Amino acid sequence: MRTKSDMKPVLPPAAGPINKLIEEFSKLPGIGAKSAQRLAYHLLRSPVEQSRLLADAILALKQQITLCSVCCNVTDANPCAICSNVQRDHTRVCIVEQPQDILALEHTHAYKGVYHVLHGAISPTDGVGANDIHLQELLERLKDGQIIEVVLATNANLEGEQTAMYLNRLIAPLGIRVTRIARGLPFGSELEYADDVTLTRALEGRQAL
Ligand SMILES: [Zn+2]
Repeated sequence: MRTKSDMKPVLPPAAGPINKLIEEFSKLPGIGAKSAQRLAYHLLRSPVEQSRLLADAILALKQQITLCSVCCNVTDANPCAICSNVQRDHTRVCIVEQPQDILALEHTHAYKGVYHVLHGAISPTDGVGANDIHLQELLERLKDGQIIEVVLATNANLEGEQTAMYLNRLIAPLGIRVTRIARGLPFGSELEYADDVTLTRALEGRQAL
């Protein structure tokens, strides 16, 4: 059986810049050796303008994107578009592990509140503790008394459940309603990959912990 390391591109000695780009593409998730070659040779054949736009987009991603000072979502404006939207229900905060989870939930149009991104989940086995995720920022937000419900939308796997339990223990004593999205999401699944119907049901079926 071929493993991922077997799939590393076998690079000819010449054509250094091509090899360099193949090597860099190969480091990206979901890009195997063949795809990396295809992308590199595609760019080589394409007008230089396309390469420039790609390079600019990659650099802009790193240079212009910061974390929202309110919800810790990735953003190019601070506060982010969701936090600064007065149409949203700012009394409800949905807690997610990753910024991509917000995209999945927004796609359902089933949630009108605001978010908080933890950038991870508590995982003692991986050495990730409460201080390693953006938890302090959340607790600061909860202090002003404006928030009446916290919706825990961490992943339906071991780390996500552990994090939800931990947050519940921390937040429930503050007199804030804590709910957990659950129904419809199979255990072990990641929010990012759930379909709209499943996610909408999970949101609507959220329960007090
Ligand atoms: Zn925000």
